[in-house]
Amino acid sequence: MSKILAVANQKGGVAKTTTVVSLGAALADMGLSVLVVDLDPQGCLTFSLGHDPDKLTISVHDVLLGEGAIADALLDTEDKVSLLPATIDLAGAEALLLMRPGREYALKRALKTVEGDYDVIIVDCPPSLGVLTLNGLTAADEVIVPLQCETLAHRGVGQLLRTVTEVQQITNPDLQLLGALPTLYDSRTTHSRDVLADVSDRYDLPVLSPAIPRTVKFAEASASGVSVLGGRKNKGSAAYRELSENLWKHWNGGADLVTIEAV
Ligand code: ADP
Ligand code: MG
Repeated sequence: MSKILAVANQKGGVAKTTTVVSLGAALADMGLSVLVVDLDPQGCLTFSLGHDPDKLTISVHDVLLGEGAIADALLDTEDKVSLLPATIDLAGAEALLLMRPGREYALKRALKTVEGDYDVIIVDCPPSLGVLTLNGLTAADEVIVPLQCETLAHRGVGQLLRTVTEVQQITNPDLQLLGALPTLYDSRTTHSRDVLADVSDRYDLPVLSPAIPRTVKFAEASASGVSVLGGRKNKGSAAYRELSENLWKHWNGGADLVTIEAV
């Protein structure tokens, strides 16, 4: 049985895609078999893993609409993770799915057929709370919410948490909210720390450790088509490796997740 993790936040630029790429690569480096799923019509995950969305003939769009088999859409990547890619077609899937019964379950149904092949499946949700994100949350066992530690970056968290609660009530009672993941974190500023403390107080939300530090390596990596873990050692990749180990100990050994207390 694989563990399915959704990475969701309706705000763009909070490092959802970076988290999916880096966690996926770190877990694969630990010897696990990993599938990452691009649910964003912009295809940033697909692009970050070295594939040009414009050149693909079959993608998650066809799979969600039942017009293609997931096995035919999967791609290999240099980071040793399998990728279910997205193309701009996915923007239209939203409207097409809306007319269908069971529209929130399309991804869950598709993943059922390959679940057994992977230890971990990570779903990169788009920056909205529409039907694609609902598909991600409905298919997932657990969700983490990347939060950028900057001014008011956490506005909208309440809305996302309400969506998670609704999914738990309606389409996926087993969904667990693991917590917020602080991203683009600058430990030198008290501001970053204040934002974290505020989020964990206000929403009673666990804050996962370690916070992911801001480093220029990430922008360089996404342009190169391999994750930041492929390059030389840096504090960003070290943080994602530590997070992956924490997650795996939690999933596999039942260890408590390491959280940041009283920041
Ligand atoms: P989202 O998927 O939430 O829209 P991305 O993962 O695409 O966010 O990240 C947005 C931008 O921030 C990208 O340019 C990415 O390279 C950059 N970024 C992500 N994480 C970090 C980090 N820890 N340090 C510096 N830049 C980062
Ligand atoms: Mg993204």
